[in-house]
Amino acid sequence: MATLKDFRNNVKPNWCPGCGDFSVQASIQRAAANVGLEPEQLAIVSGIGCSGRISGYVNCYGFHGIHGRSLPIAQGLKMANRELTVLASGGDGDGFAIGMAHTVHAIRRNIDMTYIVMDNQIYGLTKGQTSPRSGEGFKTKSTPSGSIETPLAPLEMALAAGATFVAQSFSSNLKQLTHIIEEGIKHQGFSLINVFSPCVTFNKVNTYDWFKENIVDLETIPDYDPSNRIQAMTKLMETDGMLTGIIYQNKTKPSYENLVTGFKAEGLAKQDMKLSQADFDKL
Ligand code: SF4
Ligand code: MG
Repeated sequence: MATLKDFRNNVKPNWCPGCGDFSVQASIQRAAANVGLEPEQLAIVSGIGCSGRISGYVNCYGFHGIHGRSLPIAQGLKMANRELTVLASGGDGDGFAIGMAHTVHAIRRNIDMTYIVMDNQIYGLTKGQTSPRSGEGFKTKSTPSGSIETPLAPLEMALAAGATFVAQSFSSNLKQLTHIIEEGIKHQGFSLINVFSPCVTFNKVNTYDWFKENIVDLETIPDYDPSNRIQAMTKLMETDGMLTGIIYQNKTKPSYENLVTGFKAEGLAKQDMKLSQADFDKL
């Protein structure tokens, strides 16, 4: 059985020292080993951004896609080979700006895969511009007088779009993040995991200390029921989206591939793909 070290490779991440993305990488590797995967059973598809490099830093199949397009690639991969565990990952700019349409439709489509967003509330790779997750008044090179836009509330958006698994964590909380990724992988449907992953170089507002002061762990809320969608929405709104934990999970809704007709259950990869010229002519 594979262990944590089997998911490590010899590629040295070029993230800045202290970047939150290191812990996300470590949590993915731990979670993959903990759920009993072998490296060849896992694929990570990433978008563009500092966080997008993660697909090259884990020893498994990896696909570094284009900006905001990790989800269509990842969904296609899962539909073609349903025995594969598929993770998509990227940043808040990648997933909640250029890739937002894919995010909303992937959520409501509910293919069995996990989407991990490394949310640092800024564009890091392009050296610090305001993102859809930046707070009002946030000053960057693109908003020198402070952002005047309302920041996106991704988890409320996901609940409204019909998500079946909505979770949030903090890159400093390796134990919680690893557990959430394990549960996201095990969930039979689309799992959205938003991770507060500080950009230590360009975001001097949403720092590790800032997150520690503002995060509300679900474990501190008595009688919280993650199957209660209305409660999930209410608590997110009450805490300004700063809840961490598994906020909502619907364990009864079948995933997309369990409902779709016309494909073999195991996906295209197991079918005889050797087509004759006559087969091509019929397509
Ligand atoms: Fe991480 Fe920010 Fe450095 Fe990018 S610029 S690697 S997000 S700390
Ligand atoms: Mg970002």
